[in-house]
Amino acid sequence: MERTRRNILKLFGITALGVSAKPVLNAFAKEQGHPAEPQIRKGEKALKAKQWAMVIDTRQFHSAHDLDPIIEACHHAHNVPAFENKNHEIKWIWDEKYHHAFPNKTTKFLNESVEHRPFLVLCNHCENPPCCRACPTKATFKRESDGIVLMDFHRCIGCRFCMAACPYGSRSFNFRDPRPGIAEQNDQFPTRMKGVVEKCNFCAERLAVGELPYCVKASNGAIKVGDLYDPDSEVRQLLKENYTIRRKQALGTEPSVYYIV
Ligand code: SF4
Ligand code: SF4
Ligand code: SF4
Repeated sequence: MERTRRNILKLFGITALGVSAKPVLNAFAKEQGHPAEPQIRKGEKALKAKQWAMVIDTRQFHSAHDLDPIIEACHHAHNVPAFENKNHEIKWIWDEKYHHAFPNKTTKFLNESVEHRPFLVLCNHCENPPCCRACPTKATFKRESDGIVLMDFHRCIGCRFCMAACPYGSRSFNFRDPRPGIAEQNDQFPTRMKGVVEKCNFCAERLAVGELPYCVKASNGAIKVGDLYDPDSEVRQLLKENYTIRRKQALGTEPSVYYIV
């Protein structure tokens, strides 16, 4: 195993890139005894889709406080730590201003209610994800069965190529051991370790047991998920009936998160 770790680090020139090998080695050292992936139980109840997609009705959010319960539900369930030091921040879902979320869709005289609305942003589970192409170890990958972009924390060597490749800032790096930053640990979901990248997993562990994502449950109907390729799915109905936008659409990543504005 040790030889494998050394070979991986050597192969991708981690130290030559200026990335400290210590967190990477720590990550590997700690992987024993710390399950790093959700224990996905595949059962008859599992919710399935060819490509999972999300539609967020932003008209239902008026202030950043409206988003707090949604963010809290996700972060608590997934053991996302909270640190005072912004440099150590880990985010799976967070609120963003319109101009940051949609820099290519701003105009000088933008409708005020849209401009001042808070926007939830998260991994877009892109149909054409540049993060997966950038990953040298296949630690992040697009699951063929349902299009969710997942992480295998055991394979992550902390090179952060995926972070550089993601145009949405959807990934966070654990610069430190995240566990001290978890106020109340959820023992049903694994914690991560120093030196690995993490992000929203579209609640794969919930879908696998027939449950909707935590953010959907906490949103009072403002967030819907479904199969993008099922013409009868709720998300397809919403896309048909409403004008929606996606983040940085021109890049060709094909985000699977749609916003009703
Ligand atoms: S939003 Fe970023 S991290 Fe998520 S799939 Fe797209 S490129 Fe990858
Ligand atoms: S940091 Fe990102 S690119 Fe590097 S191994 Fe981990 S998932 Fe892959
Ligand atoms: S889909 Fe799940 S993991 Fe992703 S933001 Fe929503 S609650 Fe968090």
